[in-house]
Amino acid sequence: MRAGKVFVFSGPSGVGKDTLLDLLAEQVDGFEKCVTATTRAPRSQEVNQKDYHFVSREQFLEWECAGLMLETATYNDQLYGTPLFAVRQVTDRGLDVILKIEVQGALKVKSIISDALLVFIQPPSIESLRQRLSDRNTESLDEIERRISIAAIEMQESVHYDYVVTNDELSRAVDDLRCIIVAERLRQVRA
Ligand code: 5GP
Repeated sequence: MRAGKVFVFSGPSGVGKDTLLDLLAEQVDGFEKCVTATTRAPRSQEVNQKDYHFVSREQFLEWECAGLMLETATYNDQLYGTPLFAVRQVTDRGLDVILKIEVQGALKVKSIISDALLVFIQPPSIESLRQRLSDRNTESLDEIERRISIAAIEMQESVHYDYVVTNDELSRAVDDLRCIIVAERLRQVRA
């Protein structure tokens, strides 16, 4: 069985990563999103162990200290991290794993797994991002502005990524992602 490849998808909150991933899953087989861990509270539609492992700060720090996390990061005062067991749950089945994580974590993953492929998803503009965050109606105005300031910093980090995809038109952006995955799977492995 071939080893699962690691794809890292990052992009500002509200850029549409989940929608893109759902559409991508309809077109490409053989991958699964890793369920990561966070200390933030679940949003109304979110389900524990499906959207995230929603854990207490104590639990999170315990996993981190025990060396059970591939990477961790602080985002908007909350802890986020990728448990190794969650990656293995995907790769052990021979599937490629998609880590949908923010930029600090993405760069840590790349430093540990050098052949991980980093894909940054950007909005057409900061204004369109603000509109999307406001349309989804899950954050307060303050929270939206905090996420917008983080987004501006994150977008500067996109220079470290292998690919940058603009989510201006959904079907085109999904197609771009599909092409990236297909091309990466066809890559020659050189000794
Ligand atoms: P949200 O609170 O909107 O679900 O996520 C906030 C940010 O944290 C998003 O950019 C999301 O991709 C990122 N994120 C989710 N899980 C992880 C993780 O395990 N590690 C890191 N570094 N970022 C994560």
